[in-house]
Amino acid sequence: MLEGSCCCKAVRFTVSEPPEMMATCHCSRCRKVGMSTFVFVKSDAFSLVDGHSQISVYEPEESFRYRRTFCSRCGTSLGEIGSSGDSFPVPANCFDDPLNLKVRFHEFVREKPEWAVICDDAKQFEGHPVAS
Ligand SMILES: [Zn+2]
Ligand SMILES: [Zn+2]
Repeated sequence: MLEGSCCCKAVRFTVSEPPEMMATCHCSRCRKVGMSTFVFVKSDAFSLVDGHSQISVYEPEESFRYRRTFCSRCGTSLGEIGSSGDSFPVPANCFDDPLNLKVRFHEFVREKPEWAVICDDAKQFEGHPVAS
């Protein structure tokens, strides 16, 4: 079991199955909310231990699809915690336990700022990996 939390520890969660996929999104939205490197967790394996009332949801404006959650006390990005799908992304930085994973690919590399240098050999996609 892996534990994760926000910066102020108001929001705490566990994941009973280690995530299997890690990726980095370089789009401006992921960068700004602070969830560039994320892992996918299975909804069945995820449990919120504490902080349900602290989680705020940012619903995206039209044309963007993905809602984002964050701790309303400390602002830590919590990815798509609480999403209804089979799995959802959570920022890798929220995990307190080590993730035995490496970034599998980089997406939206065309939106990457000049100063962000990719230093691994993971596959790079100009946009979304499915669309590219
Ligand atoms: Zn917090
Ligand atoms: Zn993104």
